Amino acid sequence: MSFFTGLRCSLCHEPFSATALYVCDKCLGPLEAMYDYDGIRGAVTRELIEARPPNLWRYRELLPIEGRPRTGFHSGWTPLIRADRLARELGLRELYIKDDSVNHPTLSYKDRVVSVAATRAVELGVTIFGCASTGNLGNSVAAHAARLGLHCYVFIPHDLEPGKVTGSAVSGPHVVAIEGNYDDVNRLCTQVGDRYGWGFANINLRAYYAEGAKTLGFEVVEQLGWRFPRHLVSPVAGGTLLPRIGRGFRELRDIGLVGGELPRIHAAQAAGCAPVVHALREGLEHPEPVKPDTIAKSIAIGNPADGYHVLRTVRETGGSGATATDSEILDAVGLLARTEGIFTEPAGGTTLAAAMHLIRDGVIAHDESVVICITGNGYKTADAVGGGLRPPVRLGRSLAEFEAFVAGRHDVHQQVGDA
Ligand SMILES: *Cc1c(COP(=O)(O)O)cnc(C)c1O
Ligand SMILES: [Zn+2]
Repeated sequence: MSFFTGLRCSLCHEPFSATALYVCDKCLGPLEAMYDYDGIRGAVTRELIEARPPNLWRYRELLPIEGRPRTGFHSGWTPLIRADRLARELGLRELYIKDDSVNHPTLSYKDRVVSVAATRAVELGVTIFGCASTGNLGNSVAAHAARLGLHCYVFIPHDLEPGKVTGSAVSGPHVVAIEGNYDDVNRLCTQVGDRYGWGFANINLRAYYAEGAKTLGFEVVEQLGWRFPRHLVSPVAGGTLLPRIGRGFRELRDIGLVGGELPRIHAAQAAGCAPVVHALREGLEHPEPVKPDTIAKSIAIGNPADGYHVLRTVRETGGSGATATDSEILDAVGLLARTEGIFTEPAGGTTLAAAMHLIRDGVIAHDESVVICITGNGYKTADAVGGGLRPPVRLGRSLAEFEAFVAGRHDVHQQVGDA
């Protein structure tokens, strides 16, 4: 049974039917999904959700589809990891990593939003499924399209990391590299969607796509034993994820599955592309577009489609924003791997480095619980960090040569002595 009742304008609240529309024709505001919350309150319990398979469809009553899920049967329900060694480094008492770097099938948070957009695309009869991507979205759209047998077009800026391009191309879509930045790609795809009627996950299907991001927030609450953390730090690119985590928290509270104060939600951006954090600092209602220049390419969006909603969510929850330079980003990628064994891409390093600024500035207090969202996988962008690492020691094959090497290493003697 579906409780999805249609779309409405997120700014002027004008109602719209549940088809592939994406902006309000009255005020140009983005559309958002609506539900019969009274019905959901009567039908959904913690026990019902807990009894379901560990994927994002365990929250299906709060997702905008009419029939059954078509893809994403292993997407979502990523680990929430208590990160005590990292916590000690940061001077925190209770720290968790929400690890979407191991999402299925394409190792980023995008598998959540694409599972929902692709299912809805099938319901709406879309046959050509595409996206404008900074890399991870293309990977996920290509993979889910392959599984569903949809024709697929992935549009990317021409200068993406090779690992990201391969991750899309391997599933057999048409990959179209545009000579321009992400914002140019997005503008072109808007025109293509209008002209040819194709379904673009993050453009004309955005109202459905965005709802998939709520599931990250749902999972954090359930994985904490149905309670809220005090703080959550989220990266911001186009601005889908952060406000939907906030919406997910509010929905769970409104349908009676969790009580208590809503978490403070903080925005993390790279210093080389921080339109939202600048708008927070300057008190603007809408971010001013910037030209991106950062190694965190998956979050290098200078003109965020949902910037307004990010700003509203951060302000309403008492959150804040912080930026990280490219060298801070790389340091944070290394710190996360050395303390917790999690290899994230520069976007994840950005989130951790921004969280460290918020702790140092006293915005996050040492005795308050914190969730840091790690949204992408470092194996896709290994070249971005390789340069700063200790190179392998190269030796011949004899034990004698190894013994000569070990003789100079005090840490090894210590370990052997302890054993
Ligand atoms: C897309 C993406 C984000 C966040 O993007 P939004 O458009 O703000 O939802 C964060 N991290 C990674 C790795 C991503 O690919
Ligand atoms: Zn409107």
